Amino acid sequence: MAEKRTRIVVLGGGFGGLTFCRSFRLPDADILLVDRHNHHLFQPLLYQVATAGLSASEIAQPIRSILRDKPNVRVHLGEVESLRPAERQVVGNGRTLEYDYLIVALGGQTGYFGHPEWEAFAPGLKSLEDAQRIRRDVLMAFERAENSEDPVEQQRLMTVVVVGGGPTGVELAGAFAELARHVLNRDFRRIDPARARIVLVEGAPRILGTFPQHLADDAAATLEKMGVEVRCGLRVRDIRSGVVEFHSGERIEAGNILWAAGVNASPLTRDLGAPMDRTGRVLVNPDLSVPGHPEIFVIGDAAAIADASGQFVPGVSPAAMQQATHVARQLEDEISGRPNRRPFRYWNKGSMATIGRSAAIAKIGPLEFSGYPAWLAWLFVHLVFLVGLRNRIAVLGQWFYSYVMYRRGARIITGKA
Ligand SMILES: Cc1cc2nc3c(=O)[nH]c(=O)nc-3n(C[C@H](O)[C@H](O)[C@H](O)COP(=O)(O)OP(=O)(O)OC[C@H]3O[C@@H](n4cnc5c(N)ncnc54)[C@H](O)[C@@H]3O)c2cc1C
Repeated sequence: MAEKRTRIVVLGGGFGGLTFCRSFRLPDADILLVDRHNHHLFQPLLYQVATAGLSASEIAQPIRSILRDKPNVRVHLGEVESLRPAERQVVGNGRTLEYDYLIVALGGQTGYFGHPEWEAFAPGLKSLEDAQRIRRDVLMAFERAENSEDPVEQQRLMTVVVVGGGPTGVELAGAFAELARHVLNRDFRRIDPARARIVLVEGAPRILGTFPQHLADDAAATLEKMGVEVRCGLRVRDIRSGVVEFHSGERIEAGNILWAAGVNASPLTRDLGAPMDRTGRVLVNPDLSVPGHPEIFVIGDAAAIADASGQFVPGVSPAAMQQATHVARQLEDEISGRPNRRPFRYWNKGSMATIGRSAAIAKIGPLEFSGYPAWLAWLFVHLVFLVGLRNRIAVLGQWFYSYVMYRRGARIITGKA
């Protein structure tokens, strides 16, 4: 009789799920990877799609093609709807999948601090659809401004408010300022896009709270030089169509309001019945398994685990990839009859944020630097980690073109505005 093969179901083909599938080396287990998209998305470059620097296909790659050399991995395109840990089942698209081991790598979604109604007026940036919507809305606002006779309305349409002064907010604000001042300013006749108002709003006393103060100060100074209004200590009270109101009583009318302030874990984590933090991340065991379920692991943005210093491991791609490799090694041992569960150790390789042309900040080990060297380091790291040679070449080409020509290739408006 044929020996029963171990069934591993992996939910999510993002950084965590994909890395697990790529790094799992044991041929005598069947892996089923489920994702609602047919592509793996390189989220760190999403803001460049939103700001017309890159096209969607340049930062995404079909999951099937990435895993084509893994004969024991099957890919299932479908939405996961519920998890049934007691029955060891996953339900989605009218199908029930059974597993021996489950890897939950479903990532997160934009969080609105208990105000889901704000989403309609202030989209977040989490998927290609979000990025394309933002790009369309911002470019359309400039088109409407060009058609308007009213200077006040023109200025409102050319105002972009970015809520959230973390790396994504900084990247978006910097890239929109450059788009308006260096690219769009040559395309329009009746409006002057160089007069666009880009406002970066942060509730805390400073932007980039996870970076050292002096790097955050450098970033704020660079943004201001680029024409971005950096407003710290301003807490959002309400967002409605075209207007954001703050607790201070101030309100800003804007053609576009973008939300880069919060991330929650996938809501499916609730089905696990495990303890969670306030953003819905599962408080996993040191080996990344779910309390009471040694056969279920949660990795990446859906997991909450402290590192050696007691700090929670940040929701960044290297953490998701390291956790995926850790679980892969543990399962290889266990399935081979050498159970060896061990605590996950996060190796913090540093953090970076780009502000704009030739400007970024970086903290890598003891090194803290900003400006051109940090920007080059940022370009290098993002190219290396982008999946697919074709995408790397395409992105490098686009960056070179934008840098030399002060142009952005992806300014076509598609879809309903
Ligand atoms: C705009 C932005 C910029 C970022 N910049 C950086 C950066 O510069 N550096 C960095 O290190 N990190 C960055 N991050 C964070 C990084 O992308 C995440 O930490 C990383 O993607 C987490 O990996 P993950 O595998 O947990 O989730 P993800 O990579 O998000 O993957 C989750 C997968 O699950 C799938 N999925 C979700 N729900 C379902 C469902 N119900 N059914 C089926 N499939 C589902 C999704 O389609 C997705 O493919 C950024 C994130 C964003 C949003």
